[in-house]
Amino acid sequence: MDMKKVRKEKFADFLATLAEQKLYAPQKVGESLRFAPVTDSGKVELEMSNTTVPPKSVFFPQTETLYRYEVGNTEIQQPAMGGVDIVLGVRPCDARAQVIVDSLFGWDYNDPYYQERRKATVVGLACNKPCVNCFCLSLGGGPASTVGLDLLMTDLGDAYLLQPLTEKGEKLLALAGETVETAAAGDREAAESLHGQAEQMITRKVETAGVAEKLPGLWEHSLWQETANSCLGCGICTFLCPTCHCFDIQDEVEGLEGRRCRMWDSCMFKEYTLHASGHNPRPTRRERTRNRINHKYSYFVQKFGHTACVGCGRCINYCPVNIDLVEILRQVKEAL
Ligand code: SF4
Ligand code: SF4
Repeated sequence: MDMKKVRKEKFADFLATLAEQKLYAPQKVGESLRFAPVTDSGKVELEMSNTTVPPKSVFFPQTETLYRYEVGNTEIQQPAMGGVDIVLGVRPCDARAQVIVDSLFGWDYNDPYYQERRKATVVGLACNKPCVNCFCLSLGGGPASTVGLDLLMTDLGDAYLLQPLTEKGEKLLALAGETVETAAAGDREAAESLHGQAEQMITRKVETAGVAEKLPGLWEHSLWQETANSCLGCGICTFLCPTCHCFDIQDEVEGLEGRRCRMWDSCMFKEYTLHASGHNPRPTRRERTRNRINHKYSYFVQKFGHTACVGCGRCINYCPVNIDLVEILRQVKEAL
């Protein structure tokens, strides 16, 4: 597939060619950088390390209405599904993470809300400067991984190189018309050189061989209590994780009308496993910390064949008490 490029002075025009599409891209929303519908191309933020909130929020919104109902009416009203055509500016780790989340939403029940949004074209943005806590290389990814992407953009300084990877990526470039041009001979080499340099910048590493099989054997190890001693149970590490996918379903009722909603939940919350009887199988942060690591690095591997972590580093960057997943995994390896 032929590579194209869009010069930065034409990038707003390029986005304008997608105006008929429901386009999401990174934008500042309040204090955080997250994917939001594009209404003003000037607000799109691609000069970033990565978004605070991963693009999972587009495919699996933090809160969504599954259906509405009213007393006296046996019909339920389902909201329109879909609403996403293109998600642009996705870092390669987050695109890989979404493929991991696909395993869950297509497993015992093919979730129609999620699947409809997953039809969107995913446009990636290679990392030229990975963040200090990225460890994607240890988990099979990389700053220019193409897994889960339809098109990969690389920032060449004065232009973005556009590498189509699927038919959907080709179609997007066809829409872009004359705002894009054929890439020059040296553009691919320049991009590859940037990708290589980015790999060199990733210094954090984890060793995962044997962890999935042996991790449950560390059930009573002191490292869970030691880690949990400083944990606040805030749930940030799970809410901002691109692979975490736990949710709760609740009814919101007002008068004779109501709606059934799905919203993100977190295994780091005490209520997550609280039974109606009052019993809680994970009563303290020790058990909840142990579960978070076991779920990502053992249970998910045994069920779906891959870890539920892509090494994006968000859980380390945003943990208010500096709990460090790479350090936990180092201790796990040591204990094994
Ligand atoms: S566990 Fe941490 S490093 Fe791994 S994908 Fe989730 S947020 Fe990123
Ligand atoms: S972000 Fe840190 S403090 Fe908050 S629940 Fe996760 S590990 Fe605990």
